[in-house]
Amino acid sequence: MTRKLRPATLLVRGGLRRSENAETAEIPYLTSGFVYDDAAQAEATFENKIDRFQYSRFANPTLSMLEERLCLLEGAEACRLTATGMAAVHASMLSYLKTGDHVVASRALFGSCHWIVANLLGRYGITHEFVDGGDLDGWARALSRPTAMVLLETPSNPMLDLVDLPAVAELAHRAGALVVVDNVFSTPLLQQPLTQGADIVVYSCTKHMDGQGRVLGGAILSNKKWIDDVLQPFVRNTGPAMSPFNAWVILKGVETLKLRVDAMQRSAVAIADFLAERPEVEMVRYPYRPDHPQQALALRQMSGGGTLVSLVVRGGKAAAFRFMDALEVIDISNNLGDSKSMVTHPATTTHLRIGAGERAKLGIADGAVRLSVGLEDVADLIDDLAFALDAAAPLAMAAE
Ligand SMILES: *Cc1c(COP(=O)(O)O)cnc(C)c1O
Repeated sequence: MTRKLRPATLLVRGGLRRSENAETAEIPYLTSGFVYDDAAQAEATFENKIDRFQYSRFANPTLSMLEERLCLLEGAEACRLTATGMAAVHASMLSYLKTGDHVVASRALFGSCHWIVANLLGRYGITHEFVDGGDLDGWARALSRPTAMVLLETPSNPMLDLVDLPAVAELAHRAGALVVVDNVFSTPLLQQPLTQGADIVVYSCTKHMDGQGRVLGGAILSNKKWIDDVLQPFVRNTGPAMSPFNAWVILKGVETLKLRVDAMQRSAVAIADFLAERPEVEMVRYPYRPDHPQQALALRQMSGGGTLVSLVVRGGKAAAFRFMDALEVIDISNNLGDSKSMVTHPATTTHLRIGAGERAKLGIADGAVRLSVGLEDVADLIDDLAFALDAAAPLAMAAE
């Protein structure tokens, strides 16, 4: 095939490898190992003289299909899958970093990513500095010293702040750093960091790619040389491999990724507009809205505003809890990117452990609620939100 296929087509057909049985669907190769025709073939395999499957900790045909599909979608040369998104973040950093290295990261990171940078790297003699993602002067100051790696997330969890990818990548490269972008919130459909200067992209496949709350998974994408020389020896020998069953679930999940993300995003736009008109809502955050302080950057860097909306309920934690508890359709859960809509209260869950001081720096108010918009009828979601805001109104209005 020489024609360039579009994302929706790649999501259904990319990477498909049929066996001699010519099955329609991808096969879940639930096998830990593989057998050799003779001893010499085993020897040649271990000498890297022939390229074949050996052991599912190294590679597996079902994983290879998903890896190729994600490469085609992202425009990446190579991909390795991991058991979870956090295994992907961990492996992308620890496979490369060594004692004496310096890391610069955006402050607004997923909780466990923040923990790796703040609490784990120091044990290996790797120093770090956090910067405000939107502050280019801050990035320039931090990157005025030699740096091995930059880790960032854009839009960030939970307040949907953006980082200017090309600008930060240029500063990072001048400092000698590789740029790792956690692209979970955008999905590969709405933002392609590798085309905007990033060197490595990581995903939690648990989120939109499975998208139906079933399995955990992670992915790391980059150029072939880095994946083969740096990452592969690390994952082969430390063992964060994804289960072939989970890879198969995610392969089938991504077939509908574009349909789901498009529908969820349409609803997210309508919900953000609805919330902005409600007196109980102090602030709405959605990257494509004119009241987002970085709307221009969002329009430049993303092809859509995404499937998440954050809001601040007037009246702080009590009002936010009243609002969440009154929802009858939307679930309370810290997950996101699911076909079921979910709300979470970051200050008391995902961002509890970082402390009040760090939360204040990230703009995570006590009334902040993150909404992951799902696939339900948007009219039912808006009715649910309206009912819950009515319930929170006495607390919200008392706070005025
Ligand atoms: C969920 C998530 C992760 C971690 O992924 P797991 O699959 O839960 O390990 C990392 N980064 C972001 C932005 C996430 O949303």
